[in-house]
Amino acid sequence: MADCVFCKIIDGTYSGSKVYEDEGIIAFMDIQPVNQGHILIVPKKHVELIADLDDETSGKMFVLAGKINKALRKSGLKLEGINYFLADGEAAGQEVFHTHLHVFPRFEGDGFGLKFSENYRKVLPDRNKLNNIAEKIKQLL
Ligand SMILES: [Zn+2]
Repeated sequence: MADCVFCKIIDGTYSGSKVYEDEGIIAFMDIQPVNQGHILIVPKKHVELIADLDDETSGKMFVLAGKINKALRKSGLKLEGINYFLADGEAAGQEVFHTHLHVFPRFEGDGFGLKFSENYRKVLPDRNKLNNIAEKIKQLL
């Protein structure tokens, strides 16, 4: 994709601080890190959504996330926990429309967070509603 910043890092047009690369995926430092050690795992094939990706490549992304997780924990960077974050679609916060998985260190008071609606935790759905949704999803798997 001509205008895709990740494709340009993959093809070498833009520089990136790479931490891993193989024939299907690449990982490099995020230039706008939430915290030091923020890494993006990106498939080399340009697809917008994770569901557009083949299972083997998306599986490899999560295997690499596990390896990066362990490396971050040994790195000496400030870290009390780790987030995996994948924004799948604009409404979910996706800003670069080439699917990617964020892996980044977290610590108390780092300022990052997810915002919940006012009703979150106040209104719990009833079990029948949960079961109906579960059944619908189950049928679609
Ligand atoms: Zn791309």
